[in-house]
Amino acid sequence: MSSQQARADVIVIGAGIVGSACAHELARRGLDVLVLDDRRGGATAVGMGHLVAMDDNPAELALSGWSLELWRQLAPSLDAGSAYRACGTLWLAADAEELAAAEAKQATLAGHGIACELLGAAALRAAEPALREGLVGALRVGGDGILYAPNAARGLLEQGGARIVRRQARVTQLCGNHLCLDDGRWLKADAVILANGIHAAELCPGLPLRPKKGHLLITDRYPARIQHQLVELGYVTSAHASEGTSVAFNAQPRPTGQIFLGSSRQFDTLDPRVEGPVLARMLRRALDYLPGLAGMNAIRSWTGFRAASPDGLPLLGAHPEQPGLWLAVGHEGLGVTTAPASARLLAAQLFGETAPLDPAPYRPQRFTLAATAVPTCEARP
Ligand SMILES: Cc1cc2nc3c(=O)[nH]c(=O)nc-3n(C[C@H](O)[C@H](O)[C@H](O)COP(=O)(O)OP(=O)(O)OC[C@H]3O[C@@H](n4cnc5c(N)ncnc54)[C@H](O)[C@@H]3O)c2cc1C
Repeated sequence: MSSQQARADVIVIGAGIVGSACAHELARRGLDVLVLDDRRGGATAVGMGHLVAMDDNPAELALSGWSLELWRQLAPSLDAGSAYRACGTLWLAADAEELAAAEAKQATLAGHGIACELLGAAALRAAEPALREGLVGALRVGGDGILYAPNAARGLLEQGGARIVRRQARVTQLCGNHLCLDDGRWLKADAVILANGIHAAELCPGLPLRPKKGHLLITDRYPARIQHQLVELGYVTSAHASEGTSVAFNAQPRPTGQIFLGSSRQFDTLDPRVEGPVLARMLRRALDYLPGLAGMNAIRSWTGFRAASPDGLPLLGAHPEQPGLWLAVGHEGLGVTTAPASARLLAAQLFGETAPLDPAPYRPQRFTLAATAVPTCEARP
């Protein structure tokens, strides 16, 4: 599609990593795609970009495992700015109980064909000497990686060539496959994909999405201090919390030599300010695992919002009450990881194909979409 006026087969709302992956997949299948984004920005612009096999439940593992495979296939086509690295993850065990959790995780991942190995205390120390003494071991997941998601999203759109047109515009109303822009114009396509992250409920009331705030911090350049994405096994408990504030140690080696620290989780706030007490808790936790951080300079800290669904899985599929509207939302803290598989799963449904993965656990109708007030959109042409 070469002109902004030309008709698109599909309109994607949101040019974050999920919308971009959807546009990329549909263009790959020969469709003309218009991607609308108002550039207010979202989680893709601020998240951590850890590509990680997560196994909180079988559906999460199936989607993340498949998506990691797709990222590995895409990696050679990504530009240097996407900063893909297959650094692997080390899940750190601080005591015998966490070591047992590492063993259980190994069995689960291995059962899904994901290669991983247990490291004892000495092997862990050799792999990551900057970690504090006294850790009892770790699970290394070598196929995990990292990515600079804003550039990867842009790169996926560029790979679509003339089939993808990107336009800066805010969508103000949505009715099935019709949408209204902030200049008052209505557009329609065979299908509209809603992929605008935490803002999805503004256009589609009734979506069960809750913001989960996260704090992040990045240091100055200290090359080669750590090699893997380092995550405490307690992270899973923190990520599962559904109330209050939780923090867990999570450190990423940036290709620039910086150390990128996460992560906190807070519910029921949309205040984007960095909160000193939360950041302090997060840093205390990080210092406990990486004491050398005490001598490093932080250069920036910021926050972002994950779009959390009630069961932590994304909503991928047709809107049950609005023909022509498709949902790709609710990716919580895993949307960079799961974007390519989400796009494949959605495209398979759009094309009426049998997907390589059962789409049932991700279908929007698993939730009652709050009797989704179907918009009337009276002004619609
Ligand atoms: C602190 C934090 C850490 C994270 N760490 C990781 C991690 O390590 N690994 C991982 O896999 N995931 C991580 N995530 C999650 C991941 O970043 C998100 O799941 C993912 O980026 C969501 O992408 P998206 O495309 O759905 O939405 P977004 O990135 O939010 O994009 C939505 C887009 O829609 C646009 N938009 C919104 N409303 C409108 C409108 N009305 N009209 C037009 N455009 C509109 C916005 O401008 C934006 O560009 C993290 C998230 C946070 C907040």
